[in-house]
Amino acid sequence: MEKVFIDLDKKSYFIHIEKSILNSISDYIGNADKWMIITDKNVDCLYGEKVLGGLKGKEIHKFIIEPGERSKTFSTVEKILNRMIEKGLTRKSKIIALGGGVVGDIAGFCASIYMRGISFIQIPTTLLAQVDSSVGGKTGVNMILGKNMVGSFYQPEAVIIDTDTLNTLPKKELISGMGEIVKYGVIWDYDFLNLIEENLENILNLEEVIMKKIIKKCCEIKAEVVSKDERELGIRKILNFGHTIGHALESTTAYKRYTHGEAVLIGMYYEALMAKGYGYIEDEYFKEIENIIKSLGVSLDIEEFSNDSLIESMMKDKKNKDGKISFILPKKKGVVKEVLLNRGEILW
Ligand code: ADP
Ligand code: ZN
Repeated sequence: MEKVFIDLDKKSYFIHIEKSILNSISDYIGNADKWMIITDKNVDCLYGEKVLGGLKGKEIHKFIIEPGERSKTFSTVEKILNRMIEKGLTRKSKIIALGGGVVGDIAGFCASIYMRGISFIQIPTTLLAQVDSSVGGKTGVNMILGKNMVGSFYQPEAVIIDTDTLNTLPKKELISGMGEIVKYGVIWDYDFLNLIEENLENILNLEEVIMKKIIKKCCEIKAEVVSKDERELGIRKILNFGHTIGHALESTTAYKRYTHGEAVLIGMYYEALMAKGYGYIEDEYFKEIENIIKSLGVSLDIEEFSNDSLIESMMKDKKNKDGKISFILPKKKGVVKEVLLNRGEILW
């Protein structure tokens, strides 16, 4: 069993990482008068029964959403909250988020506002959610005018990661998770980047020992960054490496063409290229980042999108200051820095 302790100002909790941990889930979730499992159709078919089995003897309700980002709306939140009221959930009840980032974001948001906040437990089932979105307490929904524009910072009571769930994950979703994993190596820990590079094949084959190690390390890095800056006023911004360009690509393609992690992989490539162009990093280090990204098989060709349209989309990001766009660029191995750039200074 791998464990990561998350120690924040007002709350601390554990991330438990283990193969087949879903079989003994009741050891990790404490007590409640009623439970509401929030999941999506795909995940429910695969793991719904297993989780129900682990919660034997408890009053359990379940809300199943359509898979995909398009469910992440206020309208879904309202339906879930209505169901919770209908079923009589109280402040002593708990929500279980069973699924990928979409489920985690919605369920966490519902938990944060139902009766001004009830407890929730994250059971992330995508690699991306296991290494990134389930840790750190960001919850929220998309608005017509912007993704993740409304939400809250709200920490779970525990995170339970069953590495078995990765076995059913489509390859595209696995690569998506790899985007965030590579990111952690570049922003925080060069040795970790090397570990990823050396074990890429084993990782893509979901070899158990390496998966647990990788997931744990990412959670530890994220925990360290988030505990220093829960509300993203400073250092937490480094987690946005690859995301300035990545988000622009996602939004220009209406979130249909790339998974989040694929967009981040492409974004990291071009942001590393910018860093090389600005002379922050050596050619040799750039090549190393390039090789890892290329070996994940995502096409880096973005010629069809004009720089203007991408920059236009970046301008809408809530992270900008005084009309300048915030980029997190590699500075040296395992270190990045924020650079605020005017339109004309953005070159890749
Ligand atoms: P992310 O975690 O990348 O934010 P989503 O929550 O949108 O993404 O999940 C991506 C897709 O993967 C969804 O269609 C979801 O139903 C599906 N999914 C989630 N977990 C699993 C799993 N363990 N096995 C198979 N499919 C899964
Ligand atoms: Zn991300």
